[in-house]
Amino acid sequence: MEYTQPNLPYREDALEPAISARTVSFHYGKHEKTYIDNLNRLIKNTDYADMQLEDIIRQADGALFNNASQAWNHIFYFFSFSPDGGGEPSGELRKAIDEQFGSFDQFKKEFEDAGVSLFGSGWVWLSKDDNGKLFITQGPNATNPLRDGLYPLLTFDVWEHAYYLDYQNRRADALKALWNIVDWDIVESRY
Ligand code: MN
Repeated sequence: MEYTQPNLPYREDALEPAISARTVSFHYGKHEKTYIDNLNRLIKNTDYADMQLEDIIRQADGALFNNASQAWNHIFYFFSFSPDGGGEPSGELRKAIDEQFGSFDQFKKEFEDAGVSLFGSGWVWLSKDDNGKLFITQGPNATNPLRDGLYPLLTFDVWEHAYYLDYQNRRADALKALWNIVDWDIVESRY
């Protein structure tokens, strides 16, 4: 199997001002593409070629894990946003957030804190377990909660390449701005 980079469901400038067209152009057009190209190169003519991407992420190590997970993470990340996004979640997900974190504002604060306090490159995640319990986790490099038996709902990329052109060293501002473009319909459907 060969992986094809999915087209973005919006124009490159559609997420401004939260994420600039220039950042999307490099982040989607160069970084995400390179991870997918590397993934294809690494699985070619191996037992991994016919394996589900999620299973590669759960089982592989080293360069294959890094590129498989980075490919998955970036596709998931860019499909979590919409120019019509923002606002607040509703339904069962909102109920779970309110129950576990006390309020949507408190959830956002804890999620931002997890992203800001991660030293170096990585990701912050909202995931659920088999019982619908929510988890905020952070991890370095290509980390993915699938490794821990969780199901990802939302992620913010805290690698500098995700925000440096727009925010330089101001990671907290970069993360805060992303709430304006989160597509809660998609996040709720993942829940
Ligand atoms: Mn990235």
